[in-house]
Amino acid sequence: MQLVDTHVHICFDSFQDDLDLVAQRWREAGVIRLVHSCVEPKEFGKFQAIADRFPEVSFAVGLHPLDVDQWTPALGEEIRRLAQSDRRVVAIGETGLDFFKSDQIEQQYACLEAQLAIAVALDLPVIVHCRDAAAAMAERLGDFCDRQTAAQGRSLRGVMHCWGGSPEETQWFLDLGFHISFSGTVTFKKAEQIKASAAMVPSDRLLIETDCPFLAPVPQRGKRNEPAFVAHVAQEVANLRQISVVELAQQTTHNAFELFRLPVNRSATLQSPGDEAIGAVAFALGRCPAASLLE
Ligand SMILES: [Zn+2]
Repeated sequence: MQLVDTHVHICFDSFQDDLDLVAQRWREAGVIRLVHSCVEPKEFGKFQAIADRFPEVSFAVGLHPLDVDQWTPALGEEIRRLAQSDRRVVAIGETGLDFFKSDQIEQQYACLEAQLAIAVALDLPVIVHCRDAAAAMAERLGDFCDRQTAAQGRSLRGVMHCWGGSPEETQWFLDLGFHISFSGTVTFKKAEQIKASAAMVPSDRLLIETDCPFLAPVPQRGKRNEPAFVAHVAQEVANLRQISVVELAQQTTHNAFELFRLPVNRSATLQSPGDEAIGAVAFALGRCPAASLLE
């Protein structure tokens, strides 16, 4: 089974002492690639250092909606510059709206809008954080997409990460072309609306993540979360969709490679030549694994 954890924060201090062991465990769990999300551009050097150590790590750059007091147009320029400076950047974000913990609503809108513009300009997907703000988010994204269409610009693509909305809200973002990513919260007993959403997302729009170190899934709830635990998310979402976890892993891994245009994992490919899942992903994307090793 091969998994992609599409949202991690392993640059945080809580991983400083044992990241080698954490990596060993994610490899044992079948996690072949990780997408490191970005809270603030200052973290960028840490992502590069982590990806140097663990080549399966790709990363994003952006500013989190709870850090919008840092926002300036110059910081937007910095995000754009960093995104173009390293080919391991696969997304812009995380950006979004958080009305649960912040009332800096106008700043959040400005910061979101600027990062959406960077994402389409650079043809990168956007990682969206949305908490207690689904209606406002759907409206903003819808407006942005309409303006892109009117200007015959490139269409916006991205993912609603750590998704916690109802099926009705989920449909708003599916209609906008977005992917939907489920985290450990889908395993929580009382998360009925998240479970219902995880059951209804079309298989070609579904992603999984840990959002580690936060929100560890059952049966690790309350502990520090880590990428290996994405296997518990996979199992729960597979149960909800009444498919095997192997099938769920194939679908979500394929979707992650496609949305983020992830490189085929050099070390995994070399360790298991002829590996069918990697071959299938590469084939589906019209890419030969052997060719990508030469890049
Ligand atoms: Zn995050």
